[in-house]
Amino acid sequence: MPSSSAKRQAQDLVLPYGKHPRIELGQQSTVDAEYRNDEASTSANKADQICRGCQKIDFEAIFSEDRRDPRLYKIWGNRRFILSHMNRQSNCTLCQFFYSTREPPLDETVVDPVYCLRVFPAKGELGAWELDFDDSPAFIVVPILDNYPFRFQDTHGIIMELSETPENFCGRQIQPQVDLSVIKGWLEICDNNHKALCKQKPNPQVPKGFRVIDCVTRKIVPWENVANPKQYVTLSYVWGSFKGKFVTRGGAIPSPLPGTIEDTILLTTNLGYRYLWIDRYCITQDDAMDMHIQIQSMDEIYQQSVVTVVAAAGDDPRYGLPGIGATPRERQPCVKVGNKTLVYTPYVRKEILNSNWNSRGWTYQEGLLARRKLVFTATQVYFQCNAMHCLESIRAPLKNLHTYKNVRMRDMVDISRVFPLRGLGKSPNDLDKRLNEYLQRSLRYERDMLNAFRVF
Ligand SMILES: [Zn+2]
Ligand SMILES: [Zn+2]
Repeated sequence: MPSSSAKRQAQDLVLPYGKHPRIELGQQSTVDAEYRNDEASTSANKADQICRGCQKIDFEAIFSEDRRDPRLYKIWGNRRFILSHMNRQSNCTLCQFFYSTREPPLDETVVDPVYCLRVFPAKGELGAWELDFDDSPAFIVVPILDNYPFRFQDTHGIIMELSETPENFCGRQIQPQVDLSVIKGWLEICDNNHKALCKQKPNPQVPKGFRVIDCVTRKIVPWENVANPKQYVTLSYVWGSFKGKFVTRGGAIPSPLPGTIEDTILLTTNLGYRYLWIDRYCITQDDAMDMHIQIQSMDEIYQQSVVTVVAAAGDDPRYGLPGIGATPRERQPCVKVGNKTLVYTPYVRKEILNSNWNSRGWTYQEGLLARRKLVFTATQVYFQCNAMHCLESIRAPLKNLHTYKNVRMRDMVDISRVFPLRGLGKSPNDLDKRLNEYLQRSLRYERDMLNAFRVF
């Protein structure tokens, strides 16, 4: 169970962006349009809004300098700019940006520390230092006194250039609504390349009495009646203390549905799928035998689904999938420096590990078993299959990060990876790790504990 201070830190991560001033972008629906609009609006009024302290940071020089020195790749290097002039009330757009992206002091008792801006090679931080491409810089604002970690990704996020350069690591600004083409792109890469690790059996072997929701008719249908292609999406979520209705006698799912369920139906159809499995509706609640059969087959049900949607935001199914339906996300702050735009790119590991979803034994099992996961957090969407993982906030040169013949992403590329490499893992060591991860989770009932670990 995450400590209360870990939880506090996770909350700190989310709150500042809402509270502090930032440069707002336009309202266009596409990322491209947002980006162009941002360039226009910030360049118009930026000239007199950069303070003297920030003017000393020569971004042009930083972006043009050679970062290919191998000694710099594994660490953040020594390049730093003291931000002693930065404060909450500043009118300077850069100060405001830096302030809103700062890391909290490691020592929670420290108040108002002096911060510095560190510069380092993005690919070193993201685990691609040995690969011969891209030397774009990344930045972070950390307290100067802290012996801030030189380990990778211990921070809540980093600052990167907002760009679409396909062969570089760059930032992708989170918008209130998810750009589904990004998610489709990830699924497509997996479908087309990860044949050995992620391939799905053509005809899923489902348990007797298996039923799914038809998202078009909103009725429960037996698997035998499912049209081709025979594939279904699964949902992993926490029901919590919410009381909701079950399926009607006529086999229709209840209406209205809690937000998360409604959003998952919308996402399923928007991704081009039709059928969805959700335990609450697809297992007959008053039939002990059916319940037993379906629960015993939970591992196959998750493993064989075409993708598992993980609802990792909020405490119950009323919260919704942020960015899909009515629950919007915060735009991450960004700022213009010279001819570049910098954007804050949050990591996702801590947010998912500290979520209520991750604190339950059942859901952890579902996460481990699912072949491909789309995790919805309050901040962004995270994808992981058995061969690759991607963050919505970071545009990674996925092709360059894959091994020969694109079988899988290279193991060393660890961009805030959440689940173990290649699912359950293969060696006894992996199993040990899984056991330890499991024991750290809180289980509401002992019965849960036995059932949740049955798969091992
Ligand atoms: Zn400033
Ligand atoms: Zn894959």
